[in-house]
Amino acid sequence: MQPIESLQQQFEARCRKLGLAVTHQRTVIYRELVATGEHPTPEAVYERVKAQIPAISLGTVYKNVKTFLDAGLLKEVSLHHGTLRLDANTDPHHHMVCRQCRRIFDIPESEIEPVRLKNLPESGFQIDRFSIEVLGVCGACAAARE
Ligand SMILES: [Zn+2]
Ligand SMILES: [Zn+2]
Repeated sequence: MQPIESLQQQFEARCRKLGLAVTHQRTVIYRELVATGEHPTPEAVYERVKAQIPAISLGTVYKNVKTFLDAGLLKEVSLHHGTLRLDANTDPHHHMVCRQCRRIFDIPESEIEPVRLKNLPESGFQIDRFSIEVLGVCGACAAARE
């Protein structure tokens, strides 16, 4: 993932292009998303942002997160986790998911061999991209087990 300053600049440039005002609120929300390095839920982002902007509401955070998702400034980790998990890393990458604590870790695309399908069923399906999820137990949880 790129350094926060260059992400911030891209964020501001993107906002201007989309006609979104670069408000203090939006900047704080975006920076917190990037700074966690995790894949937080909108509620977890709200908790972090509230520490800096006590008057902000959860609804405002939801609304801005939705705006960021629509603008491609954020990605959803995957559509089948039950909860929305946000990803400020918009570079192509894959994920390792801890089944115990539900933390999600990035795997750079370069660390996985290119994926190819052998016999694609004739379904007319058009592939956008492959998204690989490696399920397991993270180092911290594995250590706590012992
Ligand atoms: Zn874990
Ligand atoms: Zn990620």
